[in-house]
Amino acid sequence: MNAKILIVEDEVGLATTLRDRLRNEGYVVTVARDGISGLDLAIHEQFELMILDLMLPGEGGLTVCEKVRQSGSNVPILMLTALRQTADKVTGLRAGADDYLTKPFQMSELLARVAALLRRAKGTETMAERHQFGTIRVDLKRAEVLRDSQPVSLSAKEFLLLRYFVNHRGTVISRDELLREVWGYGAVRSSRTVDVHVAWLRRKLETDPKNPQFILTVVGLGYKFTG
Ligand code: CA
Repeated sequence: MNAKILIVEDEVGLATTLRDRLRNEGYVVTVARDGISGLDLAIHEQFELMILDLMLPGEGGLTVCEKVRQSGSNVPILMLTALRQTADKVTGLRAGADDYLTKPFQMSELLARVAALLRRAKGTETMAERHQFGTIRVDLKRAEVLRDSQPVSLSAKEFLLLRYFVNHRGTVISRDELLREVWGYGAVRSSRTVDVHVAWLRRKLETDPKNPQFILTVVGLGYKFTG
């Protein structure tokens, strides 16, 4: 239960209460107090859920929501608002929010919605179609990779390797596992093959391939993708 949650809320009291309650539940919580820094965090860091206030200084919640979606992120978004009109709810959902809660709300209600959104997201995790890390955007279904919005040309094996990394991010993956899962049993089995392809991927995806940020070497064990 260590899901990372981003709260974008300008009311200090509410933001603090939300943060404390969610931390009590075991979540890892980051708070942004305006739309611009919230958007920046949502795009450049990885969260499992975003709680987004509608009325915010800087960028409003609707704009933030739209821009997060435009960035390719499919992070679940729970929108908060003091407004009661149905029109705002519809607009929020159209802008890409997954759920909606009207202030004032019961904390138990919010916690239930958060848990439901995380459960739902987890159920679709293995079928994730898009993933983003740093300035890289991966469309797994269409086998497309963008870096700073420019297409990156990957060989089939490089793409399969990247897809395996994305689907197993955060875990240590041995060279044997990669040979088995990416190259298949019939392939020539040499861990050197894996290392060469990893080096190519790093050259194409990492800012500094010699000091990788995302495709890490775990000495003696293999690799770990942290994007
Ligand atoms: Ca507000």
